[in-house]
Amino acid sequence: MQVLRVSFPGCGDFHRELKRRVSAHFESVQSSPRDALGMYLKTVLILVWTLASYSLLMFAAVNWWQAILLAIGLALGMGGIAFNIQHDANHGGYSRNRRVNQCLRLCLDLIGGSSYVWYWKHNIVHHTYTNVSGLDVDVDIEPFLRLAPDQKHKWYHRGQHVYIWFLYGLLPVNWQFWADYRDLMNGHVGGQPFPKPSKGELAITLTGKAFFYFWSLVLPLLLHPTLAVLGLYALTSFTLGIVLTTVFQLAHCVEEADLLTVDRDAPVLPVAWAEHQVRTTANFAPGSRILTWYLGGLNYQIEHHLFPKVCHIHYPALSPIVAQTCREYGIPYQSHSTLWQALMSHLSRLRRLGQPEAIVSTSS
Ligand SMILES: [Zn+2]
Repeated sequence: MQVLRVSFPGCGDFHRELKRRVSAHFESVQSSPRDALGMYLKTVLILVWTLASYSLLMFAAVNWWQAILLAIGLALGMGGIAFNIQHDANHGGYSRNRRVNQCLRLCLDLIGGSSYVWYWKHNIVHHTYTNVSGLDVDVDIEPFLRLAPDQKHKWYHRGQHVYIWFLYGLLPVNWQFWADYRDLMNGHVGGQPFPKPSKGELAITLTGKAFFYFWSLVLPLLLHPTLAVLGLYALTSFTLGIVLTTVFQLAHCVEEADLLTVDRDAPVLPVAWAEHQVRTTANFAPGSRILTWYLGGLNYQIEHHLFPKVCHIHYPALSPIVAQTCREYGIPYQSHSTLWQALMSHLSRLRRLGQPEAIVSTSS
């Protein structure tokens, strides 16, 4: 496999100034960027919510509508774990204590993913080469979807804005049963190699998978009819997939976010890393306290991409600082005021990329 080494031109004054302002903010409010009390409380609440949904579904539901509601509750609880707990912890943004982060990132393994693969795929590749076609795995769902103009067009892509929901729903099953194993065997994601897991890491990953299969399928099959278990597993998984994928896609796969293709002969991106992060990302629904709480601040993806090691609880406070600095440096700070607007922009980009002649602007 030929590895493409892509670089950014320098560090940039924008990033230096932004870091200075953000650390001045934390000093002025006398708060730590990590170890927020609200985050610990939220963790307990989300874990209790998930465990309660599962226990009630397994041992208390007596009819089909109760089972359906509890399966959806379980899916949303698992989504809460993914957005809030494992995501912050895997980035090292949950706590200053490495052990706390290392322990809580395993929450992803409990819900069927691999925190080891996620680290390399998300933290390293996606957070470095955001929206760079050929490198960022989040814009590579070929041949099912065409998410960048340099990807091969197929006739069925014309309908991708319609059938995409089916694919999004399949994401968890893909993780749980196929993609993590494939990535571990191949040792690369997005064309970028990652180190083989140590024996300990591999044991944790495989134990996590086995534990997930046990609680999600084996135990229910021992206690309930096969058809009901498979149907509720499919519903939970599908709901989780739609929620997870939509949130991540609304940050980068929207009309306002730049999408880049690397020139293989001169693999240097046009702007410095921090500016690249802002230009390839968009926020949504910043005024919604419910979404901000549930999505682990992922509706403030610009702040997340600039400061992934800061606990998401702080993103709303950082947002005006980032927006103001962007204004001063002439960098567009994109934010959809509602979830609906972001969704429409996502569908519009998908519809356009579904046409063979699609062009996506890059303002950088
Ligand atoms: Zn992230």
